[in-house]
Amino acid sequence: MSIPTEHVGSLPRPMKLQQAYAAYDEGKITWTELQAEQDEAAADSIRRLEEVGAPVVNDGEQRESSFATYNLTQTLAGTGLAPNLAPDGQFFAIFDDGHDRQLPRITAGPFRYQTYASEFVEKNVEIAKRPVKQAVISPSMMMLLYPLDGEIPGYSRERFLDDVIDEAEKDIRKCFAAGAVRVSVDFTEGRLANKNDARNPWTGRNMLQDFIDLNNRLFDRFTADERRDIGIHTCPGGDCDSVHSKEVPYELLLEHMFDMNAGYFLIQCASEEDRENVYRLCGKYSRDDADGVPQVCFMGVINPLTPDVETAEQVEQELLAAAKYIPGERLGATDDCGFSPFSSDVKPQHGSPDLARDIAMDKIAARLEGARRASTVLDSRLARA
Ligand SMILES: [Zn+2]
Repeated sequence: MSIPTEHVGSLPRPMKLQQAYAAYDEGKITWTELQAEQDEAAADSIRRLEEVGAPVVNDGEQRESSFATYNLTQTLAGTGLAPNLAPDGQFFAIFDDGHDRQLPRITAGPFRYQTYASEFVEKNVEIAKRPVKQAVISPSMMMLLYPLDGEIPGYSRERFLDDVIDEAEKDIRKCFAAGAVRVSVDFTEGRLANKNDARNPWTGRNMLQDFIDLNNRLFDRFTADERRDIGIHTCPGGDCDSVHSKEVPYELLLEHMFDMNAGYFLIQCASEEDRENVYRLCGKYSRDDADGVPQVCFMGVINPLTPDVETAEQVEQELLAAAKYIPGERLGATDDCGFSPFSSDVKPQHGSPDLARDIAMDKIAARLEGARRASTVLDSRLARA
């Protein structure tokens, strides 16, 4: 048996690319010129992931304003914002280092994605030699585009959520049609939903169950066979080497997260103090049969927020510890988060985004080697049993 391994999605954008985004915001270069920079960084991401031996690759989200807004706006500053959106929405998160990230706000119906993630997949399959994955944003994050209280005249919350589900389904189906072998849904808002941060009102509204119910409306649209390759990613945030919800007790999320009928989960864990407890909780709550599909737990064994490179031995030991609680056939390995989910991120703990990009490759190589070693150990135990 071989422990499956997969990265979450993003890699640090080279400084040159971040400068190009800024130049585009200032009107100094054209969209075509920015896209040329994105394409160059994307090709470099794929080449480097293939060089370290990643079994599935992507462009490191170099063409995306962020994991949560690729569908809505060309840049984080709001250049190329989709129709029916205003830039002044809710904070999707306020991070421990004090910085925040803000979502747009829907002002009228209908809600439509401006860009589907399949656009990136189409380009990536052209250049990749290995299978391609793609991360997409969750309906639950899109839910936060609608004002927390009240209704938009002529566009009820109910109609908006119907549109969200239709668009999210389309986003995933188009990725598969374009050639993606796996699609993971980013769900960073899950842990944040229990934060009760007065500065960010939605985190005090007990929305976790609403998030899960909404995302299950999406999963309901796919067969069990399709859901084998549709994942969910959870984390306490990862931006500018900072987090937004790590102090929220993990069990508040984990006891409900596996109620979503996804076939696999990319689960932050390496940066937890009590990792054994996370393995235990994932073993306890993940299901053999989630409406026809077993839930594979890809445990985070790499922390993208620190420049310290984990060793293959550390990764191996963590996976063997996880295997005490999670059945071998449902155990995988991943990183705690994308390495840089937002397009403007200088990776302060790393010194520079370019250095962080090099370090990310060393970390991914350690994950791959550690997973190979743990697979060998588990195999020899099986053979002896
Ligand atoms: Zn994440």
